[in-house]
Amino acid sequence: MGICPKCGHKEAYGDQCENCGTALSPLELIEPQSMLSGKPPVLRPTKHWYFRLDKHAGWLREWIEKGILDGKQHHDPDQWKKHVVGQCLSWLDGGLQPRAITRDLDWGIPVPLPGDEAKGKVLYVWFDAPIGYISSAKQWALENGKDWEAYWKGDDVDLIHFIGKDNIVFHCIVFPAMLKAHGEYALPRNVPANQFLNFEGQKFSKSRGWGIEQHDYLEEFASFPNKEDALRYALIRNMPENKDADFKWDEFADFYDKELADNLGNFVNRVVVLTEKYFGGIVPDSNADLGDILAEADVLARRLTRELEAFSFKAACQTLMEISSFGNTYLQDAAPWALAKENPDDPRIAECLFASLQMVALLSVLCQPFIPFTAPRIRALLGLEALKDGDLAEVLSRLERGTSPGAREPYWDPGGVVSQNLRPKGYQQAGNPGASESQTPSDHGTGTIQAARAVQGARRLRRFCQARPAHRHDTGSGEGA
Ligand SMILES: [Zn+2]
Repeated sequence: MGICPKCGHKEAYGDQCENCGTALSPLELIEPQSMLSGKPPVLRPTKHWYFRLDKHAGWLREWIEKGILDGKQHHDPDQWKKHVVGQCLSWLDGGLQPRAITRDLDWGIPVPLPGDEAKGKVLYVWFDAPIGYISSAKQWALENGKDWEAYWKGDDVDLIHFIGKDNIVFHCIVFPAMLKAHGEYALPRNVPANQFLNFEGQKFSKSRGWGIEQHDYLEEFASFPNKEDALRYALIRNMPENKDADFKWDEFADFYDKELADNLGNFVNRVVVLTEKYFGGIVPDSNADLGDILAEADVLARRLTRELEAFSFKAACQTLMEISSFGNTYLQDAAPWALAKENPDDPRIAECLFASLQMVALLSVLCQPFIPFTAPRIRALLGLEALKDGDLAEVLSRLERGTSPGAREPYWDPGGVVSQNLRPKGYQQAGNPGASESQTPSDHGTGTIQAARAVQGARRLRRFCQARPAHRHDTGSGEGA
């Protein structure tokens, strides 16, 4: 470990600086010291095997800049994220060097050479790790009766690496060069790397205790029924797709409250409750032409599909909410409760609820990638089966007129971020004294986030207060909202 010559980071490693992403050789480190003894390391002669990455610069540039591989169009370079292409080109501009692929270590994958030629040598982790993708696919195929080669070889393979920006060089330059050098494997079609996610304004750090681990989150939110989806949604909604992002507890609560509960949850609950109220829970019969209404939802659904395919997950999340908003607005404008007051047999009531149910069905499909725990519950409400892998293509699963929805319990409790004392471990150490003293754990229960107030002494930390029982988004009592 030592000081990075590029950015001055004090804890750079001998192969890479995790702060600026620069690949380093141990000799480039300033003031290097052993992480075990703290002493300066001593240079000794040894033998290593190298991968001639330098020989691959020519085709790599053409592949990354133009998407051309072996004279053929391999991918559309415009679909790659700018920061990914930018980082690759800066590597190529800097000149590729042969890279040592062996290490003198007593653990790791032994170099597979006969005899004692490579005794005591193991493969460098970044040489064997991506090969592990292939081995694990082979193992998976073996266990599931699939053909692993169909996933790795041939022109129709779509290999996509989902990674963070610190791994771009390995997935866009080193591994593709290895695959190309071998000759039989498909190269990645896209590497939609994310940038970094910070936590309440600072970098996550295990050593400083800044951050929250998954199991701590699950424990803290144990009594919150939608904990998995709430976190997953917030992480997607705020994904560092093209620039660094910051995870904040107050935004987390807002995403849940304003989007999942007040928008999506509200729409689903209103439609289901109104169907129950006016049609005994049976999908109403309507001969009205609903083409225009459903066409608008369909346009949004197609946009969402394109966004998913372009790895624009944040945008797709927002489109999902647009569809739900569209549904809420439609329902509000049609106001079946007002129509029912005038004339309970008004055919527009059935028309409105039939169209609304179709939109709920559509949402139950489209929300699957974002809130996979909740999606099957919405579908169960409509008497539809949970989606299986690969079913997402079935975008518009229309409900048959006259069928009976299944279970009619509320599919989720729209209230309920219930952690009164959730805070990242080490929050105090990180410069927020008083955070824990000022927090008195209160009863866990289910409630609506009525107020998320700042804890005294903790600038960012919000305390979610249980305020009142889960509110019902009223649907049938006349006011309609
Ligand atoms: Zn650096």
